[in-house]
This record gives sequence, structure tokens and C-alpha cells, in this order.
Amino acid sequence: QRPLARPKQTRYMTVSNQKGGVGKTTTTVNMAAALAKSGFQVMVIDIDPQGNASTALGIDHHSDVPSVYDVLINDRPMAEVVAPCPDVENLMVAPATIDLAGAEIELVALVAREQRLHRALGEYEKHRAAQGQPRLDYVLIDCPPSLGLLTVNAFVAAREVLIPIQCEYYALEGLSQLLKNIQMIQKHLNSDLVVSTILLTMYDGRTNLAAQVADEVRAHFPQEVLASVIPRSVRISEAPSYQQSVITYDPTSTGALAYLEAAAEMSSR
Ligand code: ADP
Ligand code: MG
Repeated sequence: QRPLARPKQTRYMTVSNQKGGVGKTTTTVNMAAALAKSGFQVMVIDIDPQGNASTALGIDHHSDVPSVYDVLINDRPMAEVVAPCPDVENLMVAPATIDLAGAEIELVALVAREQRLHRALGEYEKHRAAQGQPRLDYVLIDCPPSLGLLTVNAFVAAREVLIPIQCEYYALEGLSQLLKNIQMIQKHLNSDLVVSTILLTMYDGRTNLAAQVADEVRAHFPQEVLASVIPRSVRISEAPSYQQSVITYDPTSTGALAYLEAAAEMSSR
């Protein structure tokens, strides 16, 4: 296997879609694990109060663990909340705790409420450099399914948006609203933001519908949609209950191979 080229600078990507249950968390966790397994330095930021990404990567996130909440609300340095993923080398996680649910409201009253994550990441980069730690290659942010201040912080901290799309009938519904929101962010808060990557997930090759939806999404977004598609897979859905990504839970499963391929493709673009 040919080694993948490191990006010239850290790629900050927010994984977003206002629909719930479309595979945001699954994509964040497995793309991150796949990238780290491929030799990249990777960090996951869990900004969803549910903390599903933290769970799936085996990171403790009961309410007294230092978390992204403390970073956003209490100015705690990111370096004090990140924890290494126990199963995957070169993969760091900033966990979410349930306190984050309240952060949506607490942020409203704070100075620079939209820029807090962006600033914290800038400081963290400096901290890593000062400690002689390697530069991060990928930062993936797992968002809640809403456009509150948490998601806005993710959009402001990122350069790229990765949109997972579930290959089902209502796939494109809500997408135009997501794109409008992204345009609003571009206009007012982060002119560098681009939708760089769309990943088709939960693809069921036995149905015509999945193929039709995939064709339709590709017709709308020919540049953005990855050629690699993530199949519907029991192994993918089981892995979180073992607190693992599918990449470590069952490395030769079709689901793991699909995420490894998608990660390789993304890194080549
Ligand atoms: P979101 O973060 O967008 O709410 P999740 O990543 O939590 O979505 O996925 C929703 C549900 O679908 C979860 O139970 C997850 O395990 C399952 N799931 C996600 N991707 C797949 C897949 N490729 N095959 C089977 N189940 C999947
Ligand atoms: Mg989720």
C-alpha cells in the first residue's frame, strides 16, 4: 500500500447535516480512525451534547470529565481536555459531555461567541508546536443536528464541510437549507468555508432507490461527491457498542474497507 501524502496544512473539517441519523457521527469516527490508521495525525472534536463520537472512540465523557464544554465556556485550553483514543494511534479526541446542551444558551452571553472553538484550536496548534508535537493533519468536528451556536462554532473553526448523505428517499430534503446556512456563514463569519466533500452512506446495493438517490446527488454535486460509497453494514452499526470504530472492531469488514477507501480518496483531493 502506497503511503498517502500529508496535507500541506491542517485540514479542518466539520461533519454536518441538519438531519439526524444520517451518519454524521459514524462518518466522523470512522473517517478519523481510517485517516489515523493510514498514518495521519488526527483529532476529533465532539461538539454534540449526546457525546456519541466520544463513546464510539472509547473516550470517557461522564459529566465531570474536562470537555469541549470547558473549552467553549470556561476558556480551558484544548490541550487539557483532549484524550488519546485507546485503540488507534495518532488519534486524539476532545470529548463532549452533556453540559454542552446548556452551552447553546450560555454561549449567547459570551464575548466572541461564534469564534470560541476557532480561537481554542489556534491556541492548541501553538501549544502542540511549542511542545514539539507533530502538526495535526486532520481535525474532524462532529456536529449536533441543528444550526445553533455549537454548529456555528464548528463552521467558523473549519475550512471544509463534509456532508454525509443517507441514500434514502428524503436524502436531498433539508440539504438546500443546510447550503443556505453555509452561505450565511460564508457571508458573515467565515469566507474561507467550502463544501468540499459529500459522502454517500448507508448505501443498500440491493435497491434501485439507493442507486437513484446516489445518481441524483452526483448530478447535483459532481465535484463534491466521493466515488467511494459507504454500504449499509451491520458491523458499522455494532462497532459503537464495543466503544470502537469499525476500523478496529472488524478491520476486514466491507464497512471498514469502505471507510478506509473513502479516507484515502479524501486525502488525495
Ligand atoms: P447522526 O450522527 O447523523 O445522527 P449516526 O452516525 O449516529 O447519525 O447514525 C445513525 C444510526 O445509523 C446509528 O445507529 C448508526 O450506527 C447507524 N449507521 C450509520 N451508518 C451506518 C451504515 N453504513 N450501516 C449501518 N448502520 C449505520
Ligand atoms: Mg451524531
